[in-house]
Parts: sequence; C-alpha cells; structure tokens
Amino acid sequence: MATIDETAEVAPSRRKAGRHRGEGQWAVGHFTPLNGNEQVKKDDDGLNVRTRIETIYAHRGFDSIDPADLRGRMRWWGLYTQRKPGIDGGKTAVLEPEELDDRYFMMRVRVDGGRLTVAQLRAIGEVSQTYARGTADITDRQNIQLHWVRIEDVPDIWRKLESVGLSTTEACGDCPRVIIGSPVAGIAADEIIDGTPAIEEIERRYIGSKEFSNLPRKFKTAISGSPAQDVVHEINDVAFVGVVHPEHGPGFDLWVGGGLSTNPRLGERLGAWVPLAEVPEVWAGVTGIFRDYGYRRLRNRARLKYLMADWGPEKFRRVLQDEYLGRELLDGPAPAEPSSRWRDHVGVHRQKDGRYYVGFAPRVGRVDGATLTKVADLAAAHGSDRLSTTVEQKMIVLDVAEDQVDSLVAGLEALDFQVTPSPFRRGTMACTGIEFCKLAIVETKGRGAALIDELERRLPEFDEPITVNLNGCPNACARIQTADIGLKGQLVLDDEGRQVEGYQVHLGGALGLRAGFGRKVRGLKVTAAELPDYIERVLRRYLAERTAGERFAD
Ligand code: SF4
Repeated sequence: MATIDETAEVAPSRRKAGRHRGEGQWAVGHFTPLNGNEQVKKDDDGLNVRTRIETIYAHRGFDSIDPADLRGRMRWWGLYTQRKPGIDGGKTAVLEPEELDDRYFMMRVRVDGGRLTVAQLRAIGEVSQTYARGTADITDRQNIQLHWVRIEDVPDIWRKLESVGLSTTEACGDCPRVIIGSPVAGIAADEIIDGTPAIEEIERRYIGSKEFSNLPRKFKTAISGSPAQDVVHEINDVAFVGVVHPEHGPGFDLWVGGGLSTNPRLGERLGAWVPLAEVPEVWAGVTGIFRDYGYRRLRNRARLKYLMADWGPEKFRRVLQDEYLGRELLDGPAPAEPSSRWRDHVGVHRQKDGRYYVGFAPRVGRVDGATLTKVADLAAAHGSDRLSTTVEQKMIVLDVAEDQVDSLVAGLEALDFQVTPSPFRRGTMACTGIEFCKLAIVETKGRGAALIDELERRLPEFDEPITVNLNGCPNACARIQTADIGLKGQLVLDDEGRQVEGYQVHLGGALGLRAGFGRKVRGLKVTAAELPDYIERVLRRYLAERTAGERFAD
C-alpha cells in the first residue's frame, strides 16, 4: 500500500546534474525540514513511537494517539489506519484524511525473503483469528497484512509475533521496507546463488537501526539468485540479481533506481558485480546515498529513481565507490533472459536435495487466518517445516519428500489452493482496494476473484502465461504497469452517463530483458461491469492473431 500523501509525480527523465541543489538533500546541507513529513521525522524518529504505543496508546485507546504518530510515525511499526467502511470512491479525494480514518489499523507483518516456518505461519493464523477478525492477505512484496487491528491489542500481537521471530519493524514508513528474496532460495535445483545470508545480515545490521530510519521515502530492496528472476528486481530501489562472473563465479549484478507509482521507471544496472559477502556493505552504501542525496523537498520526487534519473548509473557508481565504499567495485555481466515465463514457482518442483517444493495459488492473495493455520498443519503433516510467500501473492510449501507430494497437493486443493491453476488464477493480482485502503477509488480483491472465475468459464482453452493486475487507484501497489493487462481503478461514465467504478486499461507491460511499461490505451476505460467482456475480447483476439512464440506483451 502506498503512503497517504503519494500524489502525482514529475516525470523522472534524465536532467542535468547540479540543478537540484534546492531539493532538500542532506548532503548539500539542507537539514531544515522543507515539508510536514520531514518535520515529523525530525521531531522524533519513527522507531520511537513503539514505546508510546506500549506505554500510553494501548492503555488509553485510539483517541489518545498524537496525530503526528497516527498519520506518520506508526508506519515505522507497520501500522496504518484503515479506511472507514461505507465511504465510496468518489469521496476519496475530497474528504480530509481524518474523515477517511477508521479507528482500526492495517498491520503489515514483515516476511523478509518470503521465508516462514510452520510455527511462524501458525502464529500469524492465530493473531489473525484472535485480533484481526480472521483477515490475512499475502501482498505482492511477500508480506502478510492483517486488518481490523485495535491499538489496545498491538503490544500483545507484537509479543506473539516476536516470540516466533517475526516483526512489523519498518514494514511501512520512510525506511528500508521488507527485503524481498527468492522464495526458493537455497533449495532450487537451478539456483545461481543463494542470497539468504545477505538478506539475514542486512536485517540483523540495519533493520530497526536509526542509521537508516529517516530516509526521504520508502526504500525497496530485492535479492535473488534464481535464474527465474523471481523478485521483480527491475522495479526496486536497489536489487541484487544472481549472475556468474567469468573469473570470480556466482555473485550479484547491482541494479538501482527502479520504481512504479505514477511515474514508473526501470532500475538501471551499475555494471558492478558484488560477491555475496559484500552485499550488505554495498546495500548500506546505496541506502546511504539515498539518505544523504535523496530529494526531500517534494514528497512526490523523494524516491531514489529521481536521483538516478538526474545522475545516471556512472555517476551513481562513482559516488558509491568514492564516498561510501572507499574502493572500486568489479565490473560484471548482465543477467540473462529469465529462465521461465512464470516466475512464481507454482506447481511441483524437484529441489537440489531430491525433495520437492509445491507452489500453490490462492485467489489474488486473499487468504484468512483459519486457512493459514490449516496450511501450516498440512505442511507439518507432510514433513515440512518451511513455507514461503511470493511476489505474485502465491505460497510455496518447501522440503516435501517425494512420497508426500500427492497427498499434500490433494490437501491444498481441498482448501481451494490450486497447484496447477489456470493462467487466470495464476496470473491475476489485486491490491487492497476500497475495502480497507484510504486512497482507493474502486474495489479490487472481490472483483479480481470474480474475474478469475469468469475468465476460467469463458476461456477454458487459454493456455498462455498472462498477467492481469488490478489497482484500486492511480498508485501502483499491484504493479499494473508491468502486467500484460493492467487495470487502474478510477470512476468512469457508463452508457447512461452515470459515474461508476471502472478502470483505465494499460496493455503490454513486461519484465525481463524485454521489460517495458504497459501502454495506456488512450481513452480506453471500462466499467467494472464490462471488465469480463472486455478482457475476453482482447484475449480471443490475441489467440486468433498470435504467431508461434509470440507473447501477449509483444
Ligand atoms: Fe495501493 Fe491499491 Fe491502495 Fe491504491 S488502492 S494505494 S494501488 S493498495
């Protein structure tokens, strides 16, 4: 979910360096806060709000919360107020934030690398059922989000989560968010390199540390040594992508400055090869550049992609080497084309140790606490102690013995978690939408789930990988710009001129070597009611006209 003050951004095209001395960068001496958000961060570090939650707010209740904490610092602990029920999308932009605020919170549980033990999944299931009305959504950054959380319950939830090694630390806010990683790190038979030690070391050294708890905006990291390139590295602020150096062997190719939102930009390669042991240090260098040189004057230009747009990769690498690392980085090769068109690891796959991993597909990431507990029990009953979440809102049970696979698959399918899903079940994602998100204009989760069922009924013969991503507003939480069919929620006019929920259509987005953003189809807006008809038409035309090997995005 994006932050509530996310507004239209200025296009991040390359500009002459040096024009932005007045952008509020600390490195050129701008320590006086230039906007309200910067002032809130200067007044008190976001991490400090935890003590007030535990000692004051949880005891005195919602009305005791300082507004600067409520709409600012509580994010550093993964807490946002959710949308007050019953407010339609037409009011999203015209009401004051406090009019949209419910007295309940969304709580984001950080799942770095998407790695979960059975005990951790059980704990999330229990917290969901005890404190969050059973809600639990898998996000497209491998986290799990709960809703309906009361401030009074937050300390108990933390105790429960932390007792199994989970946390909500810096799950939101202007700080290093969850580090996404390959969900099959360390086990995949075709892995180039296992990035898990680097993820764990970054977590240990830097997450929850005040060294990086006041960044200009959110900061997204991806690390994967999978040849499937399964962490959407192209659209993270910093990413480490597994490659083999011709002399030094497996390591990582460094990418910087990707991001979506209203002005999307693909990350750029710095041309540098980073061995596993040096990833945390290089990560800290890139994060330090963002902290020190990142733009802080305008919130909507405060992502690293704008600095990269102005500097370019050569200057970025020079500053990283000269000012942050004090040494040169080695040049290295670029990643190859992803090894698979699906990057989600759904299905049954043999691990390098001879056991199997089993990826399955909930609908649009929506699960619930009771079902997560059943999944944990199912994994344990089949000899597994580990699961993972994917950036496609899917899940995987790891380390399953061969003679347990069929029974596990049957158990998952009985929970309506398909292991061989249709392309529509597999490729459809949806953001939180109007049910809980204060920025939303339209509904997404329910509509995405219904769309899957409808397309499966209408197009049972469809056999190609396809991605259909639904957003509830112009932000990019469900990555509409990189989907084959991206749907950006907005109000549109129906045939009778009435304002109804609908979507602006983007077609042909892609990641990988042919990465590019979907083209906005000029003037093409569909009402929610027309959506199945429209997508069916587009896909039937593609089926009729495609040439051998032609992807939808081509
Ligand atoms: Fe993100 Fe969706 Fe909320 Fe918009 S509606 S901010 S895309 S979660």
